[in-house]
Amino acid sequence: MRLKTFRGGAHVPHFKELTATKPIRDARLPAKVVVALHQHTGAPCEALVKVGDHVKVGQKIGDSKAALTAPVHAPVSGKVVDIAPYPQSGGREVVSIVIESDGLQEVADTVRPKGELDGLSQGDLREIIREAGIVGLGGAAFPTYFKLTPPPGKSFDTLIINGSECEPYLTADQRLMMERPEDAIFGTRVLMKAAGVSRAFIGIEENKPEAIEAMQKAAERHSGIEIVPLAAKYPQGAEKQLIKAIVNREVPCGGLPVDVGVIVNNVGTAVAVGEAISTGMPLVERVVTVTGSPVKEPSNLKVKIGTLVSDLVEECEGFASEPAKVIIGGPMMGVAQFTMDIPVTKGTSGVLFLTIDEVSLEEPLPCVRCGKCVENCPMHLLPLFISQYADAGRFDEAAEYGAMDCIECGSCSFICPSRRHLVQSIRLAKAEIAARRRKK
Ligand code: SF4
Ligand code: SF4
Repeated sequence: MRLKTFRGGAHVPHFKELTATKPIRDARLPAKVVVALHQHTGAPCEALVKVGDHVKVGQKIGDSKAALTAPVHAPVSGKVVDIAPYPQSGGREVVSIVIESDGLQEVADTVRPKGELDGLSQGDLREIIREAGIVGLGGAAFPTYFKLTPPPGKSFDTLIINGSECEPYLTADQRLMMERPEDAIFGTRVLMKAAGVSRAFIGIEENKPEAIEAMQKAAERHSGIEIVPLAAKYPQGAEKQLIKAIVNREVPCGGLPVDVGVIVNNVGTAVAVGEAISTGMPLVERVVTVTGSPVKEPSNLKVKIGTLVSDLVEECEGFASEPAKVIIGGPMMGVAQFTMDIPVTKGTSGVLFLTIDEVSLEEPLPCVRCGKCVENCPMHLLPLFISQYADAGRFDEAAEYGAMDCIECGSCSFICPSRRHLVQSIRLAKAEIAARRRKK
């Protein structure tokens, strides 16, 4: 059978064998957590607690009145010892609430089951999802309740659950689908009701046969949910590519999935949504793949939000060899870090360590006009021209060539025989174009 997919993209090595067979295990309770007040798309939260307060697990500790935001909750019980800017992924500093754990994990009274799904309205579900602080766990960290509310004049007819996990090395979603398929299907049903749709597709790359089988079995009893095996190709998990592959609809340039009646959510998000209903626990932990050849015991860990990356390394028994590079996320779309003293946030799907031999230190060569970057761009752009304009500071031309439609998947840089830093240049151009538009 020919598997569904999209045009373009790259066949990248998967490197998933380090953790694909490792069951998810609970990481030890950290001595302290650093919970950033801005770990989502939208407005930052304001602290609802002060230094010295005692907090319980699941207690809301930050929120905002802005329409686009996501509250944050205490992942551990204990004492608030600091509220100040702390470094986060990528080097920026964000005001964070530091909680010293008392080791008791006392749960807040507000954490209780929300009742049967049949008894909850669409509005109830959206409100519960908002209050649980749930955001896209695939990395984008876009508030889920906001996504579930279509703009005036638009509506959804289809939910797509993204279980493709196309980023090399990462296996957190794969293990979730293998180990908690019933929870993933329950979360899918919640999202279907909250979005007002009667059909859902769960897309999974064919290189995860156990996950496909487990999810098919769990979905059997539920009408309207179909598991769709997809070709293993990068970036299969990008929203627009997933929509094209599964329902053959093209999201217009500059448009959103809602423009073609589709809402896309990650499978980890579906599990978190289900939990917010069945136990009432807000988003205070997530599964993180900690991997790479330097790591002694690469693992899939269930981790409290706010745990430091350095604690995760300890949890994986340290390093067998010296890491030369730390990346939050995967090698294609992840962000290189300067320190391990940064916390896990809601969007942290993985932490990858690479040795010096695995990091390319070779200088880029001139473009040889081979056209491979064009052939492989899943957004049908001309990466070589956009990056050349970006490098020359000609951002208007970069914009004319569609820089803002770039999804920063990195396929062009991966495929380029001259090792040109295409995606970095395009990313820069996008930031500059966005800044100029804001100014105007
Ligand atoms: S131009 Fe952007 S969308 Fe196209 S391959 Fe490069 S990074 Fe991906
Ligand atoms: S893949 Fe690299 S060398 Fe080939 S056209 Fe694109 S930028 Fe030039």
